[in-house]
Amino acid sequence: MNIQDFLRKNIKNFKAYSSARDEYSGKEGIFIDANENALGSVTSTEFNRYPDPQQKILKKRISEIKNVNPEQIFLGNGSDEAIDLLYRAFCEPGKDSVILLPPSYGMYSVCANLNDINIIEVPLTKDFQIDMENLKEKLVLAKMIFICSPNNPSANLMHKQDIKFVLDTFNGLVIIDEAYQDFSGSDSWLNELQKYRNLIVLQTFSKAWGMAGLRIGMAYADPEIIAVLSAIKYPYNLSELVQQTVIKALEYTSAKDRMVNELLSQKKELITELNKLDAVQHIYPSDANFVLVKFADAKFYYNELIQRKIIVRDRSSLPGCEGCLRITIGTKEENRTLIETLKRIKTQN
Ligand SMILES: *Cc1c(COP(=O)(O)O)cnc(C)c1O
Repeated sequence: MNIQDFLRKNIKNFKAYSSARDEYSGKEGIFIDANENALGSVTSTEFNRYPDPQQKILKKRISEIKNVNPEQIFLGNGSDEAIDLLYRAFCEPGKDSVILLPPSYGMYSVCANLNDINIIEVPLTKDFQIDMENLKEKLVLAKMIFICSPNNPSANLMHKQDIKFVLDTFNGLVIIDEAYQDFSGSDSWLNELQKYRNLIVLQTFSKAWGMAGLRIGMAYADPEIIAVLSAIKYPYNLSELVQQTVIKALEYTSAKDRMVNELLSQKKELITELNKLDAVQHIYPSDANFVLVKFADAKFYYNELIQRKIIVRDRSSLPGCEGCLRITIGTKEENRTLIETLKRIKTQN
């Protein structure tokens, strides 16, 4: 595929804002080019200088850990920023279409609507896999497709061969959202980046790394796609504080792995305990740090839990999720409290 041909018209000839720091990359010098405060900050930590708009050091570190080239990495204010920018780069408002596979992550449709992009829905099957027969008919109509694997809110991985088929046959961008990949034990689609120019992989520091409050997510793709996203982002989309903190955090991959293992073992326990409850009708298979649970009366349990200050996510209004609550794996203590509380809730009848 020719990526230039795929761009939105106004993006093809787009001239990016050139920031002061784009033109001179040296660290030493007298910096009187950006109207910063030369004296320092009012805080004890100094933030008086603008951060690196290209996030060079951070990208270098991530490239080493993920085994990709820095030119294949886009860093955003959460992976949500990448989702929005992909629409803005490639989809013509009021004209182009995206394929979404509900039930899935809400931001795909929110950003599509915000950008006036037509949504073609191909609902997942009963066991939350891609409906390939239906999808095959729709592929010719769209510019992009979002595949969330493991999927939020259903928690399961999508079949590999189905994703492969889409990558091989779709003349458009295939965005695979791997927000929960660390929990899945399955290989990342990053390994296929060299093979497929139409592949974009989304990952985030918000889940396994435990840094949702920092707001940082990644998009990995062909350097030509990454160059476009970088050109249309806000110049200083990642603050100095975020860049510094993540550079430091990347030294602790083993801490991330330990937390993932702990959460996975807590998940196993929680599922065992949930299965013993009368209120629980079904627990869907989970490759993530949450479970989708079908309740006899989801709304009732949701409200009862909230009254006891236990907040879960009511997903019962989503297609295929009737009666379902989404429960994130908490600490051992929190999970035990959840189970004890559910046991104490008296049913209406
Ligand atoms: C949580 C989540 C994200 C993460 O978004 P950030 O903006 O990086 O915090 C992305 N995709 C899915 C499916 C998620 O559930």
